[in-house]
Amino acid sequence: MTDLLLANIRPDARQSADILIRGGRIAAIGRDLDRPEGVPVVDGKGAIAIAPFVEAHVHLDKILWGLPWHSINVPPSLRAMIDNEVAIRKDLPWGVPERAGNLMRRCVEMGSTHIRSHVDISTGYKLDNLHGVLEAWEKVKHAVGLELVAFPQTGLMIDPGTAELMEAALDEGASVIGGIDPATIDADPKGHLDTIFGIASRKGAKIDIHLHEPGELGLFELGMIAERTRALGMQGRVVVSHAFCLGDGPAHKVQRMIDVLAEAGIGIISAVPGEIGFPPMFELAARGVRCAVASDSLRDTWNPHGDGDMLDRCWLLAYRTHCRADAELLRALDMGTRRGADLLGLEGYGLEVGCEGSLVLIAGENLAQILVDRPARALVVKRGRVVAADNQWIDGEVP
Ligand SMILES: [Zn+2]
Repeated sequence: MTDLLLANIRPDARQSADILIRGGRIAAIGRDLDRPEGVPVVDGKGAIAIAPFVEAHVHLDKILWGLPWHSINVPPSLRAMIDNEVAIRKDLPWGVPERAGNLMRRCVEMGSTHIRSHVDISTGYKLDNLHGVLEAWEKVKHAVGLELVAFPQTGLMIDPGTAELMEAALDEGASVIGGIDPATIDADPKGHLDTIFGIASRKGAKIDIHLHEPGELGLFELGMIAERTRALGMQGRVVVSHAFCLGDGPAHKVQRMIDVLAEAGIGIISAVPGEIGFPPMFELAARGVRCAVASDSLRDTWNPHGDGDMLDRCWLLAYRTHCRADAELLRALDMGTRRGADLLGLEGYGLEVGCEGSLVLIAGENLAQILVDRPARALVVKRGRVVAADNQWIDGEVP
């Protein structure tokens, strides 16, 4: 069902209105709209309607949620955690399709109707993780959009054959080329970046690079990324995830780099990490850098935390950056909604006539209070179809 009339709701916490969705798109917004024959009506009971959350960075193939509690007993070094994950994933009772499907349904339950997920590609995994996630998506694609990043988690230059597999992934459903810590993982930043930019340029793909490397090293590599982005005319198509160096690098160099990122059209995604420095998200946004928050690794061999709730992630940003005034809280909410959609270039995102008929209903007083209290998602609608209610996945038609 792609037609739906949502009555008695408050779009973006403004005054009460109805929203009519026809053919999966918002056809009308107004008070007391006519009720076309045959179109199901849902009483929103005065709840606030917002455009959906956007999960701009997650790892659907890594999730262990639903399996017995996994105790993490590995030193916090990148290499040790990578090797640990490869070993553990060999013996899991559930395959990628079951685990990825579980997390996608959870994301939808909490109001995210679009996901960008990285999938590990290596000569060991080959394209199995990509295929597994796509198999899971077949069952939930009516509820959530999906964009996949071919991600060289275990290394690119140090695992010959990985680059060819990543390129092959683009022919089998991925649309973004990933990268990771070019100096630390591969000890070859030039080779690493030239390889992924080469593939993306040849295939017309986007790029999303994990960059955990701190301080001067990370800033140097950001400069290399910006240089290649400009040279290949890829402005607006490159994202750097984490970019801790923007949080812990020398202030004057960070300030210069923000201008470079804005000029090169490079986006920044942060998972709002714990004790680690993270990018100054609001300053980035104010200076024209596209940016968003996202979950990243959650409930897997890397990280015991997280629950796929982007409203929680927005609140975490607000909490860690001392947002107090309503306007500041709303800017934090934007980082998991409108700015995420902008960063990923989602077409038809928003609560305007002509936009995709997707939204989330949340009972509350106003948007600032919703961010702080994080109430249940009363209803999640994707293209006119109710796909979750009260934080629970719905199979089938409108209730
Ligand atoms: Zn990640």
